[in-house]
Amino acid sequence: MRIKRNEFLPFSRPSINEKDIAGVVEVLRSGWLTTGPKTAEFEQAFCDYTGCGGAVALSSATAGMHLVLEALGIGPGDEVITPSMTWVSTVNLIVLAGATPVFVDVDRDTLLVSPESIKASLTDSTKLIVPVHFAGAPVDIEPIRKLAEGKNIFLVEDAAHALGTEFKGERIGCRGTSIFSFHPIKNITTGEGGMFCSDDLELVDCIRRLKFHGLGVDAYDRNMQGRSPQAEVLEPGYKYNMMDISAALGITQLARVEEFNSRRTKLAGIYRERLAQIDEIIPLGNPPYPLKHTWHLFVVRLDTDRAGLSRDDFMLELKQRNIGTGLHFRAVHLQKYYRESMGMRRGMLPNTEWNSDRICSLPLFPDMTPDDINDVVNAIKSVLRKSK
Ligand SMILES: *Cc1c(COP(=O)(O)O)cnc(C)c1O
Repeated sequence: MRIKRNEFLPFSRPSINEKDIAGVVEVLRSGWLTTGPKTAEFEQAFCDYTGCGGAVALSSATAGMHLVLEALGIGPGDEVITPSMTWVSTVNLIVLAGATPVFVDVDRDTLLVSPESIKASLTDSTKLIVPVHFAGAPVDIEPIRKLAEGKNIFLVEDAAHALGTEFKGERIGCRGTSIFSFHPIKNITTGEGGMFCSDDLELVDCIRRLKFHGLGVDAYDRNMQGRSPQAEVLEPGYKYNMMDISAALGITQLARVEEFNSRRTKLAGIYRERLAQIDEIIPLGNPPYPLKHTWHLFVVRLDTDRAGLSRDDFMLELKQRNIGTGLHFRAVHLQKYYRESMGMRRGMLPNTEWNSDRICSLPLFPDMTPDDINDVVNAIKSVLRKSK
């Protein structure tokens, strides 16, 4: 049994093949590098895959969240409901918009927000709900849609983990408004990048304007299509457009998303089988409704009492055995700014906090092999033996 691998196993690594490389090189040789024909092609392919009404490619998912808050006019006096078990970007932007984040606790076993907890947090000031599809599993979105509809509250799904994920037979993105990320750890990558998509085409148009200076046209339109060389600012906007260099990668990556996701699912199955014999390791639970999981992350919880070591030490020990891990996520409400500016304390979100102290993402990416999983499982066993 190999206790220590010779080579470091990262917790995530993008799968880049010769086609991806050729697509990017083609753009580099084409004379047009920024937003242009490749970006338009990627947006169309994204609509075809997810079934969404309209899509706008952006420089990141974070940019999409910024733009949608702006487009919906979210600001001072408005409350935005979101979990604290999420990436910091959403919450940061809510605060930067002058609005108030209202944190809801997640289910202790799935790390997903429930319609009930959202309902309990609604007030007359609630303007927006941002649920997070976690690790590749969908939230129970149907009842959340109903909550929002009845009260004229906006709903924007954080779908950074959910490309290809299905809820009751429907792909995330095909209905409502969602934001996807193509950061290198996500299920497909464009280097950095994100996609805003919605069936509200007016909102799509607004995001399209806001992502490029508020001009209503891209630089490509002005230079190549001879359209509106005199384009003027319709409203002040930002600069969050995706480059064609990135979009070319997005096109070839999206063509492989089903292959990537089934590979992730297969590897996750092997993990679940192998980890079932280790009492100190608790995988996430499965939601009770019909879904298709895309295994963006393989998150486990360390039973710290039983194991006799902290999660941070567990991660360190694995690193010493050449196994990389990730932490998705450290509860946002307990981070310095949110503790100090909002008076957030431990005890406010018990399930989020319990998990925040114990979660750890094990290596999972399409090019991993079952032998790599063996190495991870053996390293975990060796760490736990040592701590006894
Ligand atoms: C990665 C991620 C984001 C941000 O995506 P970027 O493209 O890096 O801006 C947002 N939310 C969640 C849950 C994420 O995991």
